[in-house]
Amino acid sequence: MSPATGRHLLSIEDLDRDGIERILDRAASFAEVSGREIKKLPTLRGRRVLNLFYENSTRTRSSFEIAAKTLSADVTNFSPSGSSVEKGESLKDTVQTLSAYDPAAIVIRHPHAGAAAMVAGWTAAAVVNAGDGKHEHPTQALLDVYTLTRRIGPLDGKRVWIIGDILHSRVARSDILAFTKMGAHVTVCGPPTLIPRGIEALGCDVRYTLDDLREADAVYTLRMQKERMTDSYIPSLREYVATYQVNARRLGPRQVLMHPGPVNRGVELSGEVVDSPQAVITAQVEAGVVVRMAVLYELLAGARTTAPEPGTPGPAPGTTASATRSLSATSSVVG
Ligand code: ASP
Repeated sequence: MSPATGRHLLSIEDLDRDGIERILDRAASFAEVSGREIKKLPTLRGRRVLNLFYENSTRTRSSFEIAAKTLSADVTNFSPSGSSVEKGESLKDTVQTLSAYDPAAIVIRHPHAGAAAMVAGWTAAAVVNAGDGKHEHPTQALLDVYTLTRRIGPLDGKRVWIIGDILHSRVARSDILAFTKMGAHVTVCGPPTLIPRGIEALGCDVRYTLDDLREADAVYTLRMQKERMTDSYIPSLREYVATYQVNARRLGPRQVLMHPGPVNRGVELSGEVVDSPQAVITAQVEAGVVVRMAVLYELLAGARTTAPEPGTPGPAPGTTASATRSLSATSSVVG
């Protein structure tokens, strides 16, 4: 664990398998609360969580807000439009200004790779990376592992294909790391122009056609990240769709279909497979809340857990209170 990232969740690289499992066990214990009529725990009462989103978001921002509110934190959503960012205020000055409100956590999304790590250097708050350019989106990967494990069981030896614009996708990078740490075999597939050179170093295989797609237990599809494209990477959309779209002809009946959203229907996925029973896209969205609750819990409450607060789930299944405390001291998400 790097001392710089000890209090934060910036990257899946910071987590080992035990750390991932611990968060996912915690998330599973929170799933029970999500099913209650009154969805509230007192864990983070009186603590402030700041959502700082410099890029568009539907799922990530809303689920972080719901997660923090379910844990009784006070949440402020900051977006640069309408703020002094439009008057030229820098990210550093904005973070230092907002840190004067003493937030316990800052959840940051930013178009530049490495932005979350920089924010961590400017604030006393715990920082959660909610997507930094094409670098990483660790909570997406955690909720993906959570969702897939619940659907098909432990990922050891399972085959996951990630298809599409791997080059510009932070989800691809975080997912390759997370799925392989959990024992899965990951294959990335897409046009050569959209696969970064040397990606095998992350522990995955590369394919350029969908010919062997049927070997996959899970098919994870990605949107073209047009907002990060500086060039033309494919000859035409029509050709891309013909070669790489996952549709009913290509998806086998036992394969699980995943997508981080937003889906461009008719491009990376046909409408019929989005709406098929194999798709777990809505389950991924649902998992986003409990997994982000677990991350906030680990960062803000896990380290000081001695006796559980009333209404707070106890140690996650398979985790003793003492293991929780010692992991708190060593885990890369808890400092
Ligand atoms: N929502 C994901 C992200 O923020 C995937 C996407 O936008 O395509 O990276």
